[in-house]
Amino acid sequence: MSRKIALIGWGVAHMLFAAHLIIQQGINPQQLIIIDTFQDGGALQRSWATVCSNTTYQQFLTAVEQVGLQLSIHDKQLYPADSQTPLYILCQLLHNAIKPYIVRSEKIYDSVESLHLENNNWQIICKNRQIQSAVDICSLAPGADPRVLQTGIPQIPLSAAINANILHTYLSPNKHIALFGSAHSATLIAQNLVMAKCTVSMIYLGEKPFFYASEGAYDGIKHEAEHIARQISVDGMGGAVQLINYNETLDVHNALLKADYSICACGFDTSNVPKVYVNKELINTKKGLKYNPANGEIAPRLYGWGICFPSISIIDGKSYMDVSIPAFASHIIAQTQQISSLLSVRLE
Ligand SMILES: Cc1cc2nc3c(=O)[nH]c(=O)nc-3n(C[C@H](O)[C@H](O)[C@H](O)COP(=O)(O)OP(=O)(O)OC[C@H]3O[C@@H](n4cnc5c(N)ncnc54)[C@H](O)[C@@H]3O)c2cc1C
Repeated sequence: MSRKIALIGWGVAHMLFAAHLIIQQGINPQQLIIIDTFQDGGALQRSWATVCSNTTYQQFLTAVEQVGLQLSIHDKQLYPADSQTPLYILCQLLHNAIKPYIVRSEKIYDSVESLHLENNNWQIICKNRQIQSAVDICSLAPGADPRVLQTGIPQIPLSAAINANILHTYLSPNKHIALFGSAHSATLIAQNLVMAKCTVSMIYLGEKPFFYASEGAYDGIKHEAEHIARQISVDGMGGAVQLINYNETLDVHNALLKADYSICACGFDTSNVPKVYVNKELINTKKGLKYNPANGEIAPRLYGWGICFPSISIIDGKSYMDVSIPAFASHIIAQTQQISSLLSVRLE
């Protein structure tokens, strides 16, 4: 009997994983069950389509080739190698490239509510059905939701704030916004707010608001975000943006008192994952699922990837989550050896 591998979530992480399994590890596509309500390529298409990438086109091309996918010459030349692109472009190129390989995989348009490991098999319960096949290996890449702070004032969701056209529908000139965060997305939002003629309290965590890749900061901001951040540092973009340290409690309090809206661009929440039971015992914690960032393992024959379960780099004693398409590809390739050997033992 052919053993099954369930891929839960169909965003960029699992598209890379599926390519690697089929093209480089020789897994039969019929062994894959792909489960996602939308199957549209995930958050880069659904929530962040028009956002400009913080990675270059060449980094994307390299990652795609690393997992064995070939893009056409036309697609490879769509953008200059060192340029950034709208995120939907990366998502759609990957989605189209993997499509022919998964024609014979089973696709389930549903959301997984719980996973149960019993007698060495995973049983999968979705919102609208229970999957009948016994699944040998489960892989989770369900993405992550932007973190929301309980500010006590109306809040504009990150996906709306980062899109200037949608943001305009919330605002009129001279509104004041408390913006939490000072990394890539937050700087782009600050610029959107200034263009909408609003004023901003930009609340940052840490010893200084901005860390630049060009100055050697691992995971530092770059490209357009760096340009905006430098303008904020010089004169608050003409006085419209005020920087406030998160630990300056009174300043934060006053910023919130005068704010019409708050916006949170300060990380991601990974607690919204399916419930996982191992031998009838629930293993979820309040924060989600514990996993080993070195090899992606969550429980026996249950793995996690992508923004919900990233690899971690420790630089100068500080931990950084590696959240990008190139990092997902490298991590998956480095760790799949273990999964493949598990499969080869169990497959006929
Ligand atoms: C604003 C922003 C900008 C970014 N910019 C870049 C960039 O420029 N370059 C770059 O390389 N990376 C970038 N990233 C990082 C990363 O590439 C994205 O976060 C990417 O969307 C992560 O892919 P994923 O597959 O982990 O999750 P997602 O793309 O979120 O996909 C997860 C999928 O899982 C599905 N799902 C969730 N729960 C369930 C369930 N219970 N059952 C079944 N399906 C489920 C969802 O429907 C979704 O389709 C950016 C991220 C953000 C947030």
